[in-house]
Amino acid sequence: MVNAKHSIHKFPHYTPYVLTQSPQFQNLQIFDHPLIHHKLSLARNQITPPDQFRRLLNEIAGLMVYEVSRNFTTASYTVQTPLEPALGKRLSQPVTLVPILRAGLGMTDGILRLFPEARVGHIGIQRDENTKLPVHYYSHFPQDVSAGPVIIVDPMLATGGSAVHAADHLCKLGCAKIQMICLVAAPVGVEKMLSSHPNITIYTASLDRELDQNAYIRPGLGDAGDRVFGTPA
Ligand code: URA
Repeated sequence: MVNAKHSIHKFPHYTPYVLTQSPQFQNLQIFDHPLIHHKLSLARNQITPPDQFRRLLNEIAGLMVYEVSRNFTTASYTVQTPLEPALGKRLSQPVTLVPILRAGLGMTDGILRLFPEARVGHIGIQRDENTKLPVHYYSHFPQDVSAGPVIIVDPMLATGGSAVHAADHLCKLGCAKIQMICLVAAPVGVEKMLSSHPNITIYTASLDRELDQNAYIRPGLGDAGDRVFGTPA
């Protein structure tokens, strides 16, 4: 007789994997989950207003971090239940989220809702209008940022300039375990990030077609920062 408690493992359609390794890029993991696709499509819609756009980004980020945190290390300890001691597990290293200002802030609350113990380090990078190069204008991190995993957060991986700059900066601070979460990625940005930082894993909900001549991801979702903060150009 089948034990009902364990029958879920035998359910023929049950698949525990929600990530697909990109055939194009090593270290690019693409989410393949109905809820994430559903929410991303609503976020892409041009008529979705900022309040809903913000909510969707945060919900997607929360769903993503559940998988992205799968490789975090744990340490065992004894926890006293009301009845007896039990084996407990705690995350053994401090985790730091690093949203790239400003659009990265649009996903950070969703991650913190699921994982309130995470610290948040900020990095501000903007493009110099003349040289088109990334300019670092602000950063503030926990002193021991290198003591555990770091997750760079930016909804759009476009040219890859800001992401590479953020990763360069974190490497200089001694961070060894770096991952990146984005909502939508352009092939050129992924290529730039992974050729500069081959040990970083990028997680995205979609690898879109291309970057256009104005550095917008196509089909994309427009300017994520403007849509999060209601500041259309
Ligand atoms: N940043 C955005 O917000 N959108 C893009 O399409 C590219 C970069």
